[in-house]
Amino acid sequence: MTWLLPLVLLAQEHVHRSEHYEVHSDVDEAFCRKVAERMERAFKAYASILPYPPPEKTAFKVRVFSTKEKLDGYFRGLRQRPPPSYQYVHDVREVFAWVLPEKPMAQRLHHEAFHQYFRHIVNDPPQWLNEGLAEYIETGTIDEKAVFKPGMHRGFMRRWREGIRSVDPGPYNGKYPLIPLADLVNAPKETWLKTENSSYCESWGLVHFLLHGPDAKLPAPVLKALKPGGTREENLRLAADAVLGGDAAAVEKAFFAHLDAIVLPGHADFLAGMKLSEEQKFGEAAASFTKAIEADGENERYLYWRGATLYSTSSFDRAEADLSLAVELFPEYTIAHLVLGKTRVYLKKWDLARESLDRAARLDRNMKREADEWKAKIPEK
Ligand SMILES: [Zn+2]
Repeated sequence: MTWLLPLVLLAQEHVHRSEHYEVHSDVDEAFCRKVAERMERAFKAYASILPYPPPEKTAFKVRVFSTKEKLDGYFRGLRQRPPPSYQYVHDVREVFAWVLPEKPMAQRLHHEAFHQYFRHIVNDPPQWLNEGLAEYIETGTIDEKAVFKPGMHRGFMRRWREGIRSVDPGPYNGKYPLIPLADLVNAPKETWLKTENSSYCESWGLVHFLLHGPDAKLPAPVLKALKPGGTREENLRLAADAVLGGDAAAVEKAFFAHLDAIVLPGHADFLAGMKLSEEQKFGEAAASFTKAIEADGENERYLYWRGATLYSTSSFDRAEADLSLAVELFPEYTIAHLVLGKTRVYLKKWDLARESLDRAARLDRNMKREADEWKAKIPEK
């Protein structure tokens, strides 16, 4: 990908420079400062995780547009295809983002800015390690004192249990292949991307295993084995040797066992709720989902399912609260936007209903017909 010089300037662009970052945005200056402060905390957290001295005198560029449409316009102005999500573009060494609710915005910025930071030190890291670490950091939290606290990737745990291992019932059963460990750590980027539904999940899982498993190999010796200026092939081989060193079959067994042993808080109650909901026992199902939410109040899937169950029993006020929180935590939760839109039609919150239904249709064209049918119930202004 070749990049033209960014001659196109943002309309009313604001900039804030901090010690290591330069934040650009069309929102306003206070916003730029807030993002820069967040990035400085992330910078410290990255430095605490990686076994390298932090880069000096950087001016890492982060661009946060007020809307996705503005970001798309910026890319088109440069004759580039707009990215589907936040993105770090190594050619220009910049992170591109747009405004989202606080939590997903922070998580995604932490992910992309990690690529920027890491590749400033190791130019061509192995794909599994670069993405695995970025996902690991995205899933954790970085507090006001820049202390990183690891978290659990709820989406990848679902994919592992339901899609790859098929131990939980669900639509992903048998859908994604299990990638053997040796294949995962030896995969060049193109190969890795071909099975990305499994690769992302297992790469995150491997980083989790290497940091928290019985024989922790991260941050050293895997990261220390890398050559900062080495080629991608070289670094791929060095990291693979460091991971598989000794008894490769035993490492793989321990890795899979590590992921198999993880059970998300509230998981059993959630599965029980799903079963009850299938049997149309909505009252009991909602009670099970409530128990799951008590165990993990930030699991968007638990919230969606309780919301959808409450919708089925015409408890629209409570359904709206759950579904709103679900889409705040996961802004691309298409089905949650759709059910939220329908809920708001019943609540006669016309403008909000239209907004939610439009959102669902934009995210998934297959939902457009149903969204249009519901929009037709909204009275003309
Ligand atoms: Zn990434």
